[in-house]
Amino acid sequence: MLINNINNRIVRKISRQIRPMFNRRMLPIRLAKPLVSFTFDDFPLSAITSGAHYLENEGWRATYYTSAGLEQSENHHGKHFSAQDLCGLEARGHEIAGHTHSHVDLSQISVDQAMTEIQTNHVTLKKMGVKGEISNFAYPYGEASGRLKQALSKKFTSMRGIQGGAHYGCADLNELKSQAIDTQPNFDKAIRIINGLSARPGWLILFMHDIVESPSEWGCTPDKFLQVVQAVKTSGADVLTVSDSLTFLKARASRA
Ligand SMILES: [Zn+2]
Repeated sequence: MLINNINNRIVRKISRQIRPMFNRRMLPIRLAKPLVSFTFDDFPLSAITSGAHYLENEGWRATYYTSAGLEQSENHHGKHFSAQDLCGLEARGHEIAGHTHSHVDLSQISVDQAMTEIQTNHVTLKKMGVKGEISNFAYPYGEASGRLKQALSKKFTSMRGIQGGAHYGCADLNELKSQAIDTQPNFDKAIRIINGLSARPGWLILFMHDIVESPSEWGCTPDKFLQVVQAVKTSGADVLTVSDSLTFLKARASRA
């Protein structure tokens, strides 16, 4: 049993590293100045009360990858959003994007089941009052399969994973990279990437969950979040939602 578990973990780790190399949909990145997108996954209320609040102070907007099934639930990230919170975010210009209905690991279910999860999320978000098109998606836990990526590439403008780093030269719309700021090494890496953006303009997508004084393993403190905001400000980056970033990047790619 133990050996099986270890084998499963190894297989999953290898497939996670190999997967981004296949089933790609490349978009050229041609930037004269840096571009940054802030994204939140799931998401707890502190992603609004701290996250959106601090970003709005700078005139910036974020992308919220939302699992409708988590509405008003409470977990290690804290209390989650309500329908009113979602509509409020959207009315203030933030993007509501997809993240499956029940936040399921998509590598563990069939493509058909995954499509049902995604459709249920879509229908529920609409019932909750979300008006905009749900055109971008993030894989829960960053997990997917090759077949699923192919299927979703027909449904979404982009899908985001959790592989760190920024995009220079090109981005794979089937598994966009995103940099966490949760652990100290991830936070340091994010700051390093941001500080390097003005010398080498690229598109950096950041992702986070809770922003509280005592964060979860995947969250960060308000102080650290504000350090990231300050670094982005200093870099002179344009800050756009994922949807607006893609519109901007596609327009630049077609002009070249
Ligand atoms: Zn998530």
